[in-house]
Amino acid sequence: MKPFSYTRAQSVGDAVAALVANPQAQLLAGGTNLVDLIKYDVTQPEAVVDINRLPLKDIRKLPDGGLRIGALVSNSAVAYDPRVKERFPLLSSAILAGASPQLRNAATTGGNILQRTRCYYFYDPSSPCNKRKPGSGCPAIGGLNRIHAILGASDKCIAVHPSDMCVALAALDAKVEIEGPEGPREIPFSDFHRLPGDEPEKDNTLAHGEIITAIRLDANHFAGHHTYLKLRDRLSYAFALVSVAAAIQATEGQIVELRIALGGVAHKPWRDRLAEAEFAGAPADDETFRRVADRLLSQAKGQGHNDFKIPLAHRAIVRALQQAASGRPQNQTLKAIQ
Ligand code: SF4
Repeated sequence: MKPFSYTRAQSVGDAVAALVANPQAQLLAGGTNLVDLIKYDVTQPEAVVDINRLPLKDIRKLPDGGLRIGALVSNSAVAYDPRVKERFPLLSSAILAGASPQLRNAATTGGNILQRTRCYYFYDPSSPCNKRKPGSGCPAIGGLNRIHAILGASDKCIAVHPSDMCVALAALDAKVEIEGPEGPREIPFSDFHRLPGDEPEKDNTLAHGEIITAIRLDANHFAGHHTYLKLRDRLSYAFALVSVAAAIQATEGQIVELRIALGGVAHKPWRDRLAEAEFAGAPADDETFRRVADRLLSQAKGQGHNDFKIPLAHRAIVRALQQAASGRPQNQTLKAIQ
């Protein structure tokens, strides 16, 4: 492990200035990913800027019925907040499907969004990896790729984004509020994370010097008809092989609005707005749900070991839409698929 300097930011402006002053500086919040990355020698920051004392730890109601969640609110605090459970239960459910209680107590909202892929090769500094060292190659292509992408991959990287929370935030059309050297700005959640393309080292569209200050959720009509269905190798403390965040607004058996985001299948939470729009007016029944799955997976491509994810994702989409339509969301305590 390479030595690094440690400073504690007293304000958001302090944190931005510290990042701007050193291109190799990284922010420390809950540390549940960064500390691992440093210990494994995957990342070698010259400077670590601790932002844990910044005033970004509250959840505020917005006038339209939405919520603004500070970047340093812990995952547990978000999941169990009565306002989140009432207005955005999909988000609460997705968070509770992830990690362990101890990790959720430490991990922050901003940190969850910025966590890095769990590709085996990325975490092994003795392996080449285009994401860790651009231009060095991608041994997952043709190698061990059971957990890798079936959508949106490139010939440079086939990694997936590991977060559960982010899949729900994508389906809920969240906004990411940011502060940086040029002042504040906002990024729609679906535009925050990137596909790998030719630059897999870039996970997202945040510029160096910018920090996430909050997530904003606008009011919606999905609290009664949603689900977060996560399929994994064991029932707790495992990343998704495939997950589905689904929400349906229907009237007299017909879909008015459909939201569906997939996790564990791409470099970012996977959402296809055109596909969602195509099913407005369709009957909210199994035949439609199968067509939604066909449409969402029409470009899916396996890498060998992960070919099983395509039929698994198809079944998960159909089951998630059934759960959402019936108003019986997946229970994250019992975990057995309903
Ligand atoms: Fe690295 Fe991406 Fe290839 Fe994994 S899939 S080895 S993260 S380039």
